[in-house]
Amino acid sequence: MGIKILKNKIPFIITLFCCVTVAALAASVRASDSAKAAQTSAAGSPKQVIVLDAGHGGMDSGCVAINGAYEKDINLDIVKDLGALLTLNGYEVVYTRTEDISIHDDGVEGIRNQKISDMKNRLAIVETYPDSVFISVHQNLFTDPAYFGGQMFYTTNNSANFKLARIMQELFSELQPGNDREVKLIDNGLYLFKNTKQPALLIECGFLSNPDDAANLNTAEYRKKVAFTIFSGLQNYFGEEEKSKENTEIGEAESFLYMQ
Ligand SMILES: [Zn+2]
Repeated sequence: MGIKILKNKIPFIITLFCCVTVAALAASVRASDSAKAAQTSAAGSPKQVIVLDAGHGGMDSGCVAINGAYEKDINLDIVKDLGALLTLNGYEVVYTRTEDISIHDDGVEGIRNQKISDMKNRLAIVETYPDSVFISVHQNLFTDPAYFGGQMFYTTNNSANFKLARIMQELFSELQPGNDREVKLIDNGLYLFKNTKQPALLIECGFLSNPDDAANLNTAEYRKKVAFTIFSGLQNYFGEEEKSKENTEIGEAESFLYMQ
């Protein structure tokens, strides 16, 4: 059996290896807990808001690449490039973090508690912007270094999620020749995604266990390409949303005429 066939058969729990720990640690967090204020006000914003989440940070490095790079740094760099592109193009961007930090509350002791507080505060930021699109950027890891390429993970919390995932996956396949991964449903209750109601996407940009992905993601140039890919995916998504809205309106007008 070729690698091509095997690739799509990696058990979900393993493909999300680096995130599962976070999910387990954060499982006991209650969504109703008091929220840390987000970085900007959402009130009355005429712009489309995009909430960008660079996975991990601070004491939580995420995956460690075979070349020694930390996932948290790659995530942040991509998110910053992506945020700059979005801002330049008229979006309002909200970040869960812009530095190498965990965003846990002051005074919280112990890594586990800090991680729970960090996840709770990330969700609070997401929930501050109910009309936003939420994008969380991560890197993957697997025991077999042959596995490579970005993969999109989504929930059924919002009907737009599959569309967003599909559009994004297609563009990652263009960026990464040979990447024929399929979008995957998040079914194990990742804390942030389980509680997110607006359109949301978890992007695993590549495998830090794969020599090519790891080498690419270790360069600023490639990370910029990844950022541009995500930006293009969002643009295409909003384009499709606009088109389907227009089609609905035309459909309504036609049925109105028919009724006359
Ligand atoms: Zn991660």
